[in-house]
Amino acid sequence: METKGIPQHSAAESLGGFADLGVSAPVVEALERIGFHSPTPIQAAVIPPALTGRDVIGLAETGSGKTAAFSLPMLERTEPSGRCTGLVVCPTREIALQTKRFLDGLVGLKGLRSACLIGGVKLPPQTEKLRGGVDLVVATPGRLLDHCRRRNVSLDGVRCLVLDEADHMLDLGFLPQMQEILDLVPSRRQTLMFSATLPQVIERLAKRVMSDPLRFDLLPSGRTAEGIEHRLYLVHDRDKKSCLVALTHQQEGSTLVFMRRKVDADWASRQLELEGESVARLHSDRSQSQRVAALEGFRKGGFRILVATDLAARGIDVPRCAHIVNYDLPATVEDYVHRAGRTARGSLKGVVSSIGTWRDKQMVRDIEAAIGEPLPRRVAAGVTPQEERRSTIRGRERVRRRLM
Ligand code: AMP
Repeated sequence: METKGIPQHSAAESLGGFADLGVSAPVVEALERIGFHSPTPIQAAVIPPALTGRDVIGLAETGSGKTAAFSLPMLERTEPSGRCTGLVVCPTREIALQTKRFLDGLVGLKGLRSACLIGGVKLPPQTEKLRGGVDLVVATPGRLLDHCRRRNVSLDGVRCLVLDEADHMLDLGFLPQMQEILDLVPSRRQTLMFSATLPQVIERLAKRVMSDPLRFDLLPSGRTAEGIEHRLYLVHDRDKKSCLVALTHQQEGSTLVFMRRKVDADWASRQLELEGESVARLHSDRSQSQRVAALEGFRKGGFRILVATDLAARGIDVPRCAHIVNYDLPATVEDYVHRAGRTARGSLKGVVSSIGTWRDKQMVRDIEAAIGEPLPRRVAAGVTPQEERRSTIRGRERVRRRLM
């Protein structure tokens, strides 16, 4: 079911209604219309304190309903003024568009106006929109700062700042831009931060820019969603490509393949097309319209396979994605969790297949420690597995014993 452009599928719902959390009647009615009958656990935890203006850190799995958890209080606390009073900063254009789409279904109720400021598309239409006055802005950092420098928008009036995928927004890649944004918004404001992962060092940094935040940790102890089956295929470097092809053949359903490098994403999609598959590509060298077409085509089932770099790993809502393939193991455990979060969304089930070589030994151990279980070893049809050395097997035993 897809309503008003919002991709729908079940996030685990909790008891009670949105009205019990303090959400206003017109908003509750609008939520009913898009199929949100009761709040998810992260929504139930975060909405009441956020409605009173408290700062909140929300830790929950991807797909658990975080967008509404921050959007609803922000919307309820914003009155039309034509000044940007609510600001959501996201790491990728796709996440920004998804959030804007959710807000679009609700802003009309209060006569609010919103804008989405992302790179990869023309500046003038965004400028025009800003000149007409907007109350809520959803943005990626680079384009937001571009508009600020051109004085198209002022952040002086921001009362509520949301950092979606907060760990990523505060890590080294984005930190300089985030610092600039934090200097532009008033220090007296509400700050809401959400993420599926929040390493301690980033959390300490987050707390420095927040005021006495309440912290809600709704992450399952195993760190990734419960419906996920993890599989590890250990192969020689030369067999990675044939392993990828075998995995896409042996597992039915929509498949998201993660590659570390853009060039690999290009050859892999060509290769899979030669195998007769319908394939879309998503990486940062593609134009914004190509990125939107790839994602929409994959969402709607026009492409069975989406080959992507980590650009697609975070926050993107891809309903019914049955199979994740890590052609390359990710650089960090957090990225594994985010990639895995693209499947088994809500209460659905999914498979995460990782292709590893001898170089990935340490990362495999780190992932096993993080998800709380050894990754089951599997063999792909027609691909010779790489033997594990005894020391590695002993390492797995240690992980298992530690967990028991
Ligand atoms: P999010 O984590 O915000 O990306 O949400 C994941 C999915 O759950 C999206 O498809 C939402 O439309 C859906 N969703 C979020 N909250 C609810 C709710 N309270 N009831 C039903 N579906 C929801």
